[in-house]
Amino acid sequence: MDEKKVSRGYLSSTLSCRCPRCRDGKLFQHGTSISFKKNMLMHKECTVCGQPTEIEVGFYYGTSYVSYVLAVAICVASFIAWYVLIGISTNDNRFFMWLGFNAVLLILLQPWLMRLSRSLWISWFVKYDPDWKEHKPMDVSERMNPDQANNW
Ligand SMILES: [Zn+2]
Repeated sequence: MDEKKVSRGYLSSTLSCRCPRCRDGKLFQHGTSISFKKNMLMHKECTVCGQPTEIEVGFYYGTSYVSYVLAVAICVASFIAWYVLIGISTNDNRFFMWLGFNAVLLILLQPWLMRLSRSLWISWFVKYDPDWKEHKPMDVSERMNPDQANNW
């Protein structure tokens, strides 16, 4: 087997929605899609290192807060960009044009934002392991007991 070193950093691995443990395998089965189901369909475990992508019951419940924070950050960034490039005045409707632009921007970015918040979320719980080949992935069979589903 040839040794393939992945030298992806935390940021590029998270932004491209990759497994935080090996930074190589993709978390999602399909590319970003406007179909909600297709867009959010994840691999059960990383196809490269075997890291489970759902490490406990209701694991991704908190990601709505992450995508909310990301959305607010995008609003602030787009407002600053609009202010610098186009300007805001009380004498015309440039502010309302920004509101419309911002709404469209958020809708267009939504599929990617939802994936990015999951990628960020799991990256806070699963540590990068450069020697993942020598260690076993975490055992989640206890935490993912089907009897405990929806019991959180
Ligand atoms: Zn992996």
